Amino acid sequence: MKCDIKIKYDDSPASNTTNVILIQVTVDNRIFEDILDIHEFFKSLLIEGVYEYFTCSCGVFGCGGFYTKIEHTDDSYVLKNLYTPEEEFSEEDILESFVSQINWENIISVAEVIIDSLTEYFKNNIGVDLSVGVVGKLINNDTVMRFKDSYDEVKALRSNKKHL
Ligand SMILES: [Zn+2]
Repeated sequence: MKCDIKIKYDDSPASNTTNVILIQVTVDNRIFEDILDIHEFFKSLLIEGVYEYFTCSCGVFGCGGFYTKIEHTDDSYVLKNLYTPEEEFSEEDILESFVSQINWENIISVAEVIIDSLTEYFKNNIGVDLSVGVVGKLINNDTVMRFKDSYDEVKALRSNKKHL
């Protein structure tokens, strides 16, 4: 499976001091309707679990979005199933059942593209923070540093394993 993203920056209709970042995810030519929750994405690189992975473009999980499960194998980062965005996650809210195995190299390069893009953004827009969707989670320079830490960690972890 091949994972690709498209990153878009937009003016915020809700704020003069932040802009909006919208990331569209494609896995093997399937475009996911909702936007990537970037904070959840970086957490999911290191810890398996259920994530509020896709959120509504307005930034409110529940308005739109989906839960998905992330699993890790030696070879792949695995995206599993979509669940409706209820207040609490439940197996019963399954909407679509699928398994997308994305190799680590691919998902690490996706993380790198996001970090490079954010770094460039903050170089050119000093003091103008971002929100994931219109009123979603905020991203500032410190957030980018934390994302970078997760990226460095997953990269070290997964490239070590390859050499065992
Ligand atoms: Zn919405």
